[in-house]
Formats: sequence, C-alpha cells, structure tokens
Amino acid sequence: MAYVVPTLETPAVAVAGTSDRFPVRRIFCVGRNYAAHIREMGGDERDPPFFFTKPADAIVADGSTIPYPLATANYHHEIELVVAVGKGGAKIDQARAKEHIYGYATGLDMTRRDLQIAARDKGRPWDMGKAFDQGAPIGAIHPATAVGHIDTGTIWVKVNDKTRQESVLEAMIWNVPEVIEHLSAMIALAPGDLIYTGTPDGVSAVVAGDHLQGHIDGLSDLRITIT
Ligand code: MN
Repeated sequence: MAYVVPTLETPAVAVAGTSDRFPVRRIFCVGRNYAAHIREMGGDERDPPFFFTKPADAIVADGSTIPYPLATANYHHEIELVVAVGKGGAKIDQARAKEHIYGYATGLDMTRRDLQIAARDKGRPWDMGKAFDQGAPIGAIHPATAVGHIDTGTIWVKVNDKTRQESVLEAMIWNVPEVIEHLSAMIALAPGDLIYTGTPDGVSAVVAGDHLQGHIDGLSDLRITIT
C-alpha cells in the first residue's frame, strides 16, 4: 500500500525547557470568554460557551514569520491562554478536569474578522474567518508538572511594542475546568488536543511588517512577525 499524495507530518509544539514535542491532534477554540470582548463584539455575556475549530496544521511556532493571509482586509489578533490536553475523556467533571491537562501555552487565535463577521451575520459557519492557514500561533507548552495550573495573572499582546490587549485570566467567564466540562460534554477529548480559551477585549487589526508579542504570566512569550 502506498499513499497517493504526501501525508501530513504530525504538527507539534515545543515543550519548554526540553527537546520534546507535543503532537497536535485537534484545535478547539472558545468563542466568547471575557465579558468586555463579548461587549465589543455585540454579544450577550450570559450565553454559555460555544466552540469552533481550526486544523491542527494551522499552528505556527514562536519566532516565526508568517504571510499576511489571503482574502482579508481586516486581520485581527486574539491573545489567548491555550490548554494542552494530555489525557482524553468525555463528560469530564470540572472537579477532575485538571487531571486531563498536560500543560499550557500562550497562543494567538488569528482571525479574518471581515470574513467572520460576514459569516456570523448570515448565520453561516465561521470556518473561513478562523480556520485558515497559519491561523494558530502558539508558544512553547509548559507542563503543569513544571509550572502548576495557570489560572491567574496578566495576559497581554503588544503590536510593535504598543499594548493592544491586556487583561487577567481571572476575568474569564468560564474558567479552564468549566471549559473542559462543557467541551467534553459534546466531544470526547483526546491526547494532543489544544483548547484556545478565548480572548479579552482590545482585538484589532495587524498589517504586513507588524511584530506581535504575546504574554501570559508564568509562560513563555510568543513572538510572531507578519510579512
Ligand atoms: Mn478567540
């Protein structure tokens, strides 16, 4: 048996402080998780969380230069805490959710906002606004065994050294165990899954030549350049 087109090399993320890699299976993202961002997008913060996905090969490593994407004139950054799932399971109770977490990373849910908004307003899927090439930059993953569980502290992103988004993880509407409980009630999580946990307010556009630096207390920064 031979494959008739080239196979996908397993997408993987560096594990901080080691030569090990975390293999990426799927990428789930929380649609809304900070009240101030929901307000800036015109939503209702009392809604339960909802999820969308990106392809695993949309990940981009720290230090990368990525091209301005196709088909957009409004390309936005969304700084987010990323959870790396180490142990799978369905219907995970929030009280046991941390047992399923391998580690944490700083991520950017890059968004073609014009396409996302147009799809949203027509009741169409968000995929072309969210699930595009190089749409999921992620910094090194820090194992929870090394840094503990990351649930407090500041989260920010700077563009060309100017702060665009800044908040605290405590401002999440649904904390990480609650996100895992909700998500695993709908699909069985598996080792290698990543969960982008939503962004605070202050999302804005970037253009070719911009340098992005994302930060979450306790984790490695994420640096990306747009060309
Ligand atoms: Mn997001």
